[in-house]
Amino acid sequence: MRAICPNHKNHKRFVTVVQITQEWIVDEIGDFIEVSHECLETKHGPRERNTWTCCECGTEAVVQE
Ligand SMILES: [Zn+2]
Repeated sequence: MRAICPNHKNHKRFVTVVQITQEWIVDEIGDFIEVSHECLETKHGPRERNTWTCCECGTEAVVQE
């Protein structure tokens, strides 16, 4: 998998969505108070079918499998 900025091949930083698991401290009805552990595990890392946006110029990247 490789993301490529269509504007410039030297742009190598991208924003995309990942899914992580957090532990929260909650009250008695389950309302959020604070994050107990920031990131216990990464459920799904970056995926090619999600949108990748170039950090440098904001253009949507082309992701090759
Ligand atoms: Zn770019």
